[in-house]
Amino acid sequence: MHEATVAFHTLGCKLNFSESNQLGRKFEQLGYRAVPFDRKADVYVINTCSVTENADRECRTVVQRAMRRNPDAFIAVTGCYAQLKPGDVAALEGVDLVAGASAKFSLPDLIGEAAKKHAAEVFGCDIGTVGTFEPATSSTRTRTFLKVQDGCDYTCAFCTIPLARGRSRSDTIENAVNRARQATAGGAREIVLTGVNLGDFRDPNGEGRFIDLARTLDTQTEIPRIRISSIEPNLLDDELIEFVAGSKRFMPHFHIPLQSGSDRILKSMRRRYLTGLYRSRIEKIKNLLPHAGIGADVITGFPGETEDDFGQTVDFIESLGLSYLHAFTYSERENTEAVEMAGSVSPAVRKMRTRTLRELSAQLATAFSQRHENKPAFVLFENNRKGNLVYGYTENYIKTRMPFDPALVNSIEKVVLEKPGPDGMTGRLADASLIPGSLLDEQHAGR
Ligand code: SF4
Repeated sequence: MHEATVAFHTLGCKLNFSESNQLGRKFEQLGYRAVPFDRKADVYVINTCSVTENADRECRTVVQRAMRRNPDAFIAVTGCYAQLKPGDVAALEGVDLVAGASAKFSLPDLIGEAAKKHAAEVFGCDIGTVGTFEPATSSTRTRTFLKVQDGCDYTCAFCTIPLARGRSRSDTIENAVNRARQATAGGAREIVLTGVNLGDFRDPNGEGRFIDLARTLDTQTEIPRIRISSIEPNLLDDELIEFVAGSKRFMPHFHIPLQSGSDRILKSMRRRYLTGLYRSRIEKIKNLLPHAGIGADVITGFPGETEDDFGQTVDFIESLGLSYLHAFTYSERENTEAVEMAGSVSPAVRKMRTRTLRELSAQLATAFSQRHENKPAFVLFENNRKGNLVYGYTENYIKTRMPFDPALVNSIEKVVLEKPGPDGMTGRLADASLIPGSLLDEQHAGR
């Protein structure tokens, strides 16, 4: 008997990857076997993103790739772009089913016998009606991404995520803790808490907010490492920073979206903080966790961003001493407030500013790594082998590489960080008897 096969292609963020994994497990329960996307499959699932520039073109290209592998395959498209533009997706040649936000997790059932259609069936929805939280977990075994929150109630002028994913909603603390325990029992050594606006986590039964989730995970699980994927600066309060500083499980690593270093632009973006608050968060972290890795997202070329605004952004970032940046070039999105704003920045200038920030990010990363030369750190090595090297991350998120040894995979080792390079720092195993602790231990001892 023919065994049905399914292949996934996921675009966008970690949340999408977690959700594709979750969907994959549902397909497996129905008897499907997962195969890589470049193989012939009976069903192709494309989980799209709306943030990606040229989401439409990207979606079309991936559909065509699936068609080339197997012209008779059933092709289903879901994710943010499918929610925002179901008609456009349905019109793509070869697409059989379009699943919006509310239908995403019913996909395996909606596909049924996977019979090819003449015209795509669309399961769209009014995003305002999406209110249930669907948990998702994706795992590389070593690291598990645990989705604990979805959607966003903020109204940032450039962002389509609230339109694609709906209102903010969360898992219960109890459920999140159980899922963390399951991941640990399955061999995970690190959990990355993920969400759209993670800091806005609220237990639906009124059992607490993000800090309560963090405390419960800290005391009621055995996972060696927990990382916060990203948190809005206005939700990263003193209590949370103090908690992370006192926890041995929560890693000294923060990713805090900045978006601009100009207050004028932050206001126009409708962000919920100004540079003063952002600076105070960084100072608080550095005060308690001087070795913390701190990254930021920045958008270049938002409407009305002058040379002076951009200069303020560069100066502000340089003055903070961050460890890395993720620079994004602004691009117009339908149905956002920003698309109506005056002062459009030319695409060439936007790109140039992004390039400037990427260069700045490389400098920041090198400077941060240099501070760690010849210092000990604990590295969790992942199942990530390139040639004869194996890769992992320190507690404060410095990528580290060592000669491959199967015994290193999925283990936390004390390593002496040697030299920064383009692909992380080189490391060597530390002699535990000679080197008493890691940087983090020093921090804990110093409190
Ligand atoms: S906080 Fe702003 S940028 Fe982030 S998802 Fe919500 S609306 Fe979008």
